[in-house]
Parts: sequence; C-alpha cells; structure tokens
Amino acid sequence: MKRYFFTLFLFLIVLQIGTLSYGQTTQKERLEKHVYYMAADSLKGRKTGSKEAQKVAEYIRTQFEEIGLTTKMHSFKLRIVSQNARALYQNVIGVWEGSDPILKNEFIVIGAHYDHLGVKLKNNEEIVYNGADDNASGTAVLIELARNLVQQKELTKRTLVFVAFDAEEIGLYGSKAYVDMMRESEPNQEIVLMINFDMVGYLKQSQKLKIIGVGTVQNYSNYFNAVSFPEFYRLDLNKQDRSFLTGSDHDSFTAKQIPAFHVTTGLKSPYHKPEDDAHLIDYDGLSTIVDYFTELVPIFADDSDLRPSASLAKNRNYSKNSYFGLVAGIGNMHYKYRHGTVDGKKGVALQLGLYGKVSLSNSFALKGEVAYSFANRYRKEGMIQTHEVTVPVVLLVKTTYENWLELSTGIGGYYSYFFHLKEKNSNPIIKQYSPHEAGLVLDYEMRFSRMIFGLQYKYGLNEMIIAPQKEDKTRPRTVQFKIGFLF
Ligand SMILES: [Zn+2]
Repeated sequence: MKRYFFTLFLFLIVLQIGTLSYGQTTQKERLEKHVYYMAADSLKGRKTGSKEAQKVAEYIRTQFEEIGLTTKMHSFKLRIVSQNARALYQNVIGVWEGSDPILKNEFIVIGAHYDHLGVKLKNNEEIVYNGADDNASGTAVLIELARNLVQQKELTKRTLVFVAFDAEEIGLYGSKAYVDMMRESEPNQEIVLMINFDMVGYLKQSQKLKIIGVGTVQNYSNYFNAVSFPEFYRLDLNKQDRSFLTGSDHDSFTAKQIPAFHVTTGLKSPYHKPEDDAHLIDYDGLSTIVDYFTELVPIFADDSDLRPSASLAKNRNYSKNSYFGLVAGIGNMHYKYRHGTVDGKKGVALQLGLYGKVSLSNSFALKGEVAYSFANRYRKEGMIQTHEVTVPVVLLVKTTYENWLELSTGIGGYYSYFFHLKEKNSNPIIKQYSPHEAGLVLDYEMRFSRMIFGLQYKYGLNEMIIAPQKEDKTRPRTVQFKIGFLF
C-alpha cells in the first residue's frame, strides 16, 4: 500500500514537472516549433490553396485561439481566371479589441503570409520548397508577437488585428481581399497602420533588420526613437514605400493610402529555392524581433496623433478624379498630298502645354490640352515655320493598376489656331491662308504615378494653306512622343 502511494506520488511529481516544463517553453522554443512545423516536408511547401496550406491555416487559428484572440477564417475567391475549383483560399484573422471606446474602431493590422510555392518535379522527383524563411519565419513571429501583446501588455487603445495571409506568392491576393473586405463590410472601422513580416529569419546573417516604408507615417522617427533595438544589430529604417524587388502584402495597404511597413532581414536566405529550410533560421533573431515589436506596437496603437504622411497621399497613391499638369511633345509632321504620290519631307514638331484629365468612370476619362506648338512644314514649294495654339481633346479608355499605373488609349479631335508663320523661301509660296486647322487624334498614354508618357498621332482634315491648285492640296500628319508631369 505504502509502495502504491509512493508510486502515485512519484507519478504526480513527474506529471507536475511535465506540465511545468510545457508551460515554461521559451519564446525561442515556440518560434522553433512553429517554423519546424510549417516548413516540414510533410506539409509539401504549403502551396497556395492546397490541403496542406489549409492544415497550416488551422494550426495558426488554433494558436490564435489559445492566445485568446477572437478568430475568424476569411475565405475569398481569386480574381484570376485559373482558380482551381477545389482549392480553398483563406486568411486567418485574430482580433484583440482595443480599450478606447472611439480608437478601438481603428485597426492596427499585423500580418504575415503563410503560403509558399509547394513542390516541383525535377527528374521525376518531387522537390519540396519548404519556405522556412519565406514565410514560416514571419508567421511564427506573428503568432508569438500576438501572444506577447495579449499576455504581457495592457490593452492598447486601438484594436490589434493579426492576419496570416494566404495567396501572397501568386499575387498578394489574400491581403488585397482582406483590404477590400474591410472597406466593404466594416465601413466604420478603419485600418490606420499595417506591419508586414515577410522573411525575417536571417537577422544574424544580415546584421540588420530592415523596416521599409516608415515614411508612410507622419513623424515616424518619434515612434522608432522610443524603443531601442539591440546594439549589436542595426535597425535600417527605409523611408521609401515601394520597391519592385520586395513586393509583398504591405503593398495592398499602401495602394489604398494606408501606411504600412515591411519588416525583413532581406534576401539572405536561399530565396525561392528548395534549400530554404528550418535548420538555417536564426531563432534568437526571431525572438529579438518579437521582443522589439512587443514594445513598439503599443506605442503606435496608443498614440492618438498617428496619421499617414503627406507624401504617402502625394506620391504613391496619385489616383484622383482629375489631374492637372504640364506636358511636352516632340516629334515630326509631314504633308500628305491628296493627288499624286509625292509626300512632303518630315519637319520637327514641338509642343508645350497645360494638361487636364477627368475620370468619367472606372474605365473612361476625358483629357484635354492647351498647348503652344511649333512646326517646320515642308511642302513641294518650300518650307514654312508655324507657331500655333493647339487644343486636342481625347476620350480615353483606361485601366488602372494599384493606383500608380494607368494605361489608356483613345480617340478625339484637335483644333489649331495659327498666330504666326514665316516663309523660309526666297519666293513666297503662300498666296492665301486660313488660321484654322482641325482633325482627328489617336492617343496612347501611360501614367506612372505622377509621370505621363504617351504617343499622339494627329490626322488633319484640312490645312491652313489654301492651295492654288487642286493637285497641291495636302493634309497634315503629326506624330509626337509626350512626356508630362502632374501636379
Ligand atoms: Zn514572402
């Protein structure tokens, strides 16, 4: 009997130690556990939409629930045609509501994508792209940061929303769908800042943590100066919010004028290679990053003065209903003879003017210019230099990408008034002229943020020179390359 009690006693002690040590796993151990789980060969590279990716989504949701967040699966459809009918695309959302009755309607979104590339066949062998750095590392930081902010810190005034994004690798679809869903279904709730962790597993190797896009927040240095980063590493604050090399989910937010940061240790890992494995990750580094943001996030979440920088609205999201600017054109003009086969020589045609464009809908715009033009006009008889005011008006069909790229093409008309002309011939050739010219315009234009590049073709229906004979009748043709800047 005694012995039985003794065994029971021992058993209880072992059980106690077991529970204790489980409860006392360190942050680093938990980060390791998450990355090793997500980057295991059995999860076949978490291919976007696969059943393995769905397993990972469930894992993240379970973690969020254990931490105490209110969780939700946000499934969405891809906006591309080739959606696999059996695939399920879903973001995992965990909400930690803020304490301030007003500011809690403002969200700070902390995100990381969990999908990766899946498997590829090479010489009939399946090669798994485990994506430990891209982006099991960011997802692990997301989970442990949520745990710290919920379990160590007081409630923040603003609501913290933790989102594990899907479908990043095939075109940032998860984050785009999330921003759209928020705008449509929660119009009273506003996202005021987004922090994106993508590829954060190589702190030791890169010796620095990059935070890209800090310039999207007004007075950003005040926030970053409030918390110190471990001295042996460098904190690399990058004002710019766009880099074509490092596109990730934060772009879906800045595209909608929401300040966003991309946190990364850079391209030190075997990026998009099968060697991106869990054993190469710097787990002390991940832990350092979690600790730093545990201190930093509440500073953003509690400051009622947090707002987007002026440059975010001005440069990056230069999408408006109407634009004004300056545009210059350089090209040539020639006369096409209506009778006979001889055509005029090409002469230079320059233009400088004011530009205006008004959107009529998502797909149509009307643009006009009032420009001073200069041209060398060659006729059979000789050359004439003209100075005129030209007003082209064009109806455009347009497509816009992420607010900063707009492609348009259209058709319209122009009118020119000639206020000065000079003959470059010893014997004057013009007996009579009219100061008016009108015609058709074909136009192609690309807007790249605030810059305009375009090509314009003008097809005259009359000419200013009244030809003495029928066979001398011509029609002017002008082609110009345009470059412009919008205010
Ligand atoms: Zn990534």
